[in-house]
Amino acid sequence: MPQAVLLDISGVLHEDGIPLPYAVEAVRRLQEASIALRFITNTSRKTGATVYAELLQMGFEVERSQIHTAPSVIKRYILQHGLRPYLLIHDDLVPEFDDLDCTAPNAVVVCDAEHRFDYAHLDDAFQVLNQGAPLLAVGTNRYFHQRGGLHLDAGPFVKALEYAADTQALVLGKPAAGFFHGVLEEVGIEANQAMMVGDDAEADVAAAMQAGLQGCLVQTGKYRDGDERWAPDCRLESSLMSLVAALD
Ligand SMILES: [Mg+2]
Repeated sequence: MPQAVLLDISGVLHEDGIPLPYAVEAVRRLQEASIALRFITNTSRKTGATVYAELLQMGFEVERSQIHTAPSVIKRYILQHGLRPYLLIHDDLVPEFDDLDCTAPNAVVVCDAEHRFDYAHLDDAFQVLNQGAPLLAVGTNRYFHQRGGLHLDAGPFVKALEYAADTQALVLGKPAAGFFHGVLEEVGIEANQAMMVGDDAEADVAAAMQAGLQGCLVQTGKYRDGDERWAPDCRLESSLMSLVAALD
């Protein structure tokens, strides 16, 4: 039994705002177990406050302090380093960053900006990067799962900017080891006593295993047949509930 369980949210707990079968019950049982439970997500089309409100609305028992979003880690980094970011982010994420000084930008932040990933905005970001500013990225996820299909995530746009400006992004969400370790530091549990559960074989599971955690890939959400090739030694479960039942 791991001492800490880190759960990805979208594709593990719910799809398109509808809880996956038995997921609410699985979270309730994990909350009752004597383990540290945290919810960690690269979702960047909404604020942490919205992620929390939506989980409550879906019936999940969760505390605000248990949720760690990649954009909140980016914001902390910006404040710690006194940066003024050019924000290539989704309209709905703006409130997360609206108290930052963004004049004369000396950094670029790339989250899942959806419609803002057009030539004008990408070129603006490129201009800032070309002056030597660091590129801070939410993640390198290739795609996410929504409305029954897979859709472009931030990763491909991060790669395009890296290529154009001949730079390397500092990734602060998954798959960065620092994201997992930061959460575990807070709960005071060693990586090898923790398990990450996700539907993204690369960014959730393989990355967590590389960071020293146990990895569990669930066959829900964006999971597609054969995805375990990205994390060959991972634990494979049909759903979160099947993992919870096995742990009991
Ligand atoms: Mg997911």
